[in-house]
Amino acid sequence: MQIVKDNGPITGEQIADQLNLTRATLRPDLAILTMAGYLDARPRVGYFYTGKTGTQLLTENLNKIYVKDYQSIPVVVNENVSVYDAIVTMFLEDVGTLFVVDENTYLVGVLSRKDLLRASIGKQELSTLPVNIIMTRMPNITTCEKDDLLIGVAKDLIHKQIDSVPVVKKTESGDMEVTGRITKTNITKAFVALAEEE
Ligand code: ADP
Repeated sequence: MQIVKDNGPITGEQIADQLNLTRATLRPDLAILTMAGYLDARPRVGYFYTGKTGTQLLTENLNKIYVKDYQSIPVVVNENVSVYDAIVTMFLEDVGTLFVVDENTYLVGVLSRKDLLRASIGKQELSTLPVNIIMTRMPNITTCEKDDLLIGVAKDLIHKQIDSVPVVKKTESGDMEVTGRITKTNITKAFVALAEEE
């Protein structure tokens, strides 16, 4: 990078000469620096320094991560199932949030762990209490779409103080099909992947 900074634009051949290396030895290193955005290359001109800092490049990379790259499979229950069955589903599926759908499988609500706990400390009969009585319901559900930026969803998780957001596909009538979910775990995975790329 110092050689390119001082001499750019400079060809791969010339860099190799200065380092007493072959062009072939150098090729993977130059490819990494170019892919990471520190250097840029133009055919027949050579390599030049982009002047971008690590932080700028990190920001650029963050803005290239989409929901579809990190979403996982959603777990849904019908709005008529009992709170008892929803609790069983939450354990069996090992998730912290269930999405609730109507008979057309369109999104109508969200059930968090605490929603189910709250219902459980009341005096209600859990096996006959339907989840649509206790869920957080539409239109108050925060959703995202597969082509949204992941950073936007991360901001929603913080601002709304929630753990999970359904990934939806909107129909022409404005209904929402649940196609995925983004949780704090997905965001953490993206964070780790960014660090490993660096
Ligand atoms: P917990 O309640 O277990 O701490 P959350 O922080 O995710 O889990 O949920 C807090 C409240 O927000 C719950 O009442 C839940 O129903 C609701 N909630 C969870 N996810 C969403 C969402 N995507 N949109 C709207 N409300 C949500």
